[in-house]
Amino acid sequence: MAYGEAAYGDGTRCVRAGLPEPAPGEPFLPGPVFAAPYHLDPEGPGEGPGYGRRDNPTRRRLEEAIGSLEGGGCLTFASGQAAITGLLLSLLRPGDMVLLPTDGYFEVRRFADTTLRWLGVAVRRVPTAGPYPPFDSVRLVLLETPANPGLDVCDIAAVARDARRAGALVAVDNTTATPLGQTPLALGADVVVASGTKALTGHSDLLLGYLATNDDDLLARLRTWRDQTGAVPGAFDAWLAHRSMATLQLRLDRQAENAAGVAAMLATRADVTGVRWPGLPSDPAHPVAMAQMRRMPGVVSFDLGSAARVTTFLRASRLVGAATSFGGLHTTADRRAQWGDEVSEGFVRLSCGVEDTDDLLADLSAALDVAADPGAGAPPDG
Ligand SMILES: *Cc1c(COP(=O)(O)O)cnc(C)c1O
Repeated sequence: MAYGEAAYGDGTRCVRAGLPEPAPGEPFLPGPVFAAPYHLDPEGPGEGPGYGRRDNPTRRRLEEAIGSLEGGGCLTFASGQAAITGLLLSLLRPGDMVLLPTDGYFEVRRFADTTLRWLGVAVRRVPTAGPYPPFDSVRLVLLETPANPGLDVCDIAAVARDARRAGALVAVDNTTATPLGQTPLALGADVVVASGTKALTGHSDLLLGYLATNDDDLLARLRTWRDQTGAVPGAFDAWLAHRSMATLQLRLDRQAENAAGVAAMLATRADVTGVRWPGLPSDPAHPVAMAQMRRMPGVVSFDLGSAARVTTFLRASRLVGAATSFGGLHTTADRRAQWGDEVSEGFVRLSCGVEDTDDLLADLSAALDVAADPGAGAPPDG
């Protein structure tokens, strides 16, 4: 299928990704196929799917769509964590060393501190922004860029080059950027891992994960892992995800536009500190992000100083929902310290949705005014 090829723009590629060739009387995106076993030829297994854990046409179409955007072969999983833990467990052996980001997704750190340590895998933590140690004796480097929730960025091509020389594999968690933000395989990474729960599908209604790679042996190994452990997405979720991906470029562009407005507004406020957004020219991640990313994420982080002020801000806002995910159509915010991220009590990860920028800026400004001076929003006495 040529639809994913670079000759088309991102909007076109998203709309066409993974669709079958047009056929009269057939839908654009065929509906979900619900099947555990499929009818077999009485003589034995043939070409078609035989059992749903190994194969499903709806899932295969979704994998073709994601793979076309990432530029590699793709396997989907029931969640991002199923994909990440599948990658780590299928590659790492006792005595191996893995490099993980200190500032990346918290559940991966917890998995490393429990299961990986129990298995005798050595875990070393490196901040996303670096500096990176020599990669000798490292089996796998997992990068997360931009990192969730701190939004630091690292130079994928530089790490991949040094890691390859030392014989280490490089995986990049592409959740925050999505394949329209950056394509790590083209930058030299061996494998992409991501949660499709966030911006990729963007409607806050399903969990999804995926791995993508150009290395056929690695893909086969990961497929064997998935066949044997079974964390596959169901047909309906796979179909919903594929349907949602058609609007990825539209959603991301509006989210980035909103994030640009929000970051610029936050940067002018004396009551807000630590504003981070890689698209801000003053952000430390800006130069590397501009060099390797084609789109900035819709996620902005900042600090309101205390948990109480974050609560006041969330209560006062009409457009910002309190929720612990990001990348969706609706603007949401999450105080990350409540989940154990190593950030300050007032640290907020704000995920810009696709609302009108002016509405969002007005709502956020008013809610921040209330949080800065809780009495200000109260009706006057008498
Ligand atoms: C959410 C997230 C994950 C985990 O994905 P799930 O779909 O929730 O399992 C992994 N990495 C990053 C960067 C995430 O934001």
